[in-house]
Amino acid sequence: MSLDLLVRNATLPDGRTGQDIAIADGRIAAVQPGIAAEAGRVIDAGGHLVAPPFVDCHFHMDATLSLGLPRMNVSGTLLEGIALWGELKPLLTFEAVVERALRYCDLAVAQGLLAVRTHVDICDDRLLAVEALLHVKKTVAPYLDLQLVAFPQDGYFRSPTAAANLARALDLGVDVVGGIPHFERTMADGAASLKALCEIAERRGLLVDIHCDETDDPLSRHIEALAYETQRLGLNGRVAGSHLTSMHSMDNYYVSKLLPLIAEAGVAAIPNPLINITLQGRHDTYPKRRGMTRVPEMRAFGIEIGFGQDCTMDPWYSLGGADMLDVAHMGLHVAQMTAREAMRWCFDAVTVNPARIMHLDGYGLAPGCHGDLVVLQAKDPIEAIRLRANRLFVVRRGRVIAETPARIASLALPGRPAAVDPAAYAPKAG
Ligand SMILES: [Zn+2]
Repeated sequence: MSLDLLVRNATLPDGRTGQDIAIADGRIAAVQPGIAAEAGRVIDAGGHLVAPPFVDCHFHMDATLSLGLPRMNVSGTLLEGIALWGELKPLLTFEAVVERALRYCDLAVAQGLLAVRTHVDICDDRLLAVEALLHVKKTVAPYLDLQLVAFPQDGYFRSPTAAANLARALDLGVDVVGGIPHFERTMADGAASLKALCEIAERRGLLVDIHCDETDDPLSRHIEALAYETQRLGLNGRVAGSHLTSMHSMDNYYVSKLLPLIAEAGVAAIPNPLINITLQGRHDTYPKRRGMTRVPEMRAFGIEIGFGQDCTMDPWYSLGGADMLDVAHMGLHVAQMTAREAMRWCFDAVTVNPARIMHLDGYGLAPGCHGDLVVLQAKDPIEAIRLRANRLFVVRRGRVIAETPARIASLALPGRPAAVDPAAYAPKAG
């Protein structure tokens, strides 16, 4: 057997050590110790963690890297961010959106992030961002999977042309139906928008991803309507509720009814820890709410959860760097998921879980999957999160597409080894 690539001595996210990973014809051919075969390239992982690529199931690529255009968000609130984006929208050009998106994709690849679900605002009648991101999707396809969501940022009903634009965007090839019920004029309109949007998805055979209850209002209960429509239309496993931050403020008794409904409908949850911890609770004095949805409690009900990044240097968030380990790190802290098993799960929340939510084809490290992986300068998933570990090698279809040198401190102190790998600290137990 002649291989494209052979990765030797890998530690896998499930804890298996000393594994070799063989990739032939762009697919994983074998995962086992001691593979003897010729390969175009051999990488010695040296016992480091080898994982499937990072996946971001919630992003806004039409707005990314636009920080400061046309001005900064002074209040730091969601609503000023939406207003600011409204000022920028008419100034956008096809070329500028493409250029920023491609620059972002370069950054993503360097960070081992090879699949992104991005919402794209369809409320600009020109559908300029839609056309730009469809172009980007095709351009980056050899190295990054881009999934587009038709997102009516200004409200499916509240914006007079949103319904027609959303249909046009789907006709052009946008993959997923989006929505924003809490931004409609009334709760009733919000619920009606979910009914209409889920029916569109059902008719067209598409997935759904709703910006749902991204508010501190404990009475914002669109997730209930989303679970109801999902169940009614048989869309189980095809629908995601992004943010769900109002659940953080809801009455506990009501949540005890809501969680089983979400689980029963098979609606996935997509918290966005970086943005949720900065945007929520802005109207509070003290105590100040964290705002991120109830992650451990959802997990206990078997609800699928993927952490999203949401924003990088745009009207809503002035930081970010396509680093899904940063997202996992923040999610772990905000949800207080410090048990070792829970920390390991936070790594799944930026890899295998969002891959399932996006229905990615051939994702994973099993034989037959695409030959896509990341070699991290860490010994296990917890250490990867702790160090936001270097991506030593990023592999797509058996080809190395990005490399980062290891972080090594070269010391010449008496009694110290000449080089110290900062990733080499293993816990005593656990
Ligand atoms: Zn968003």
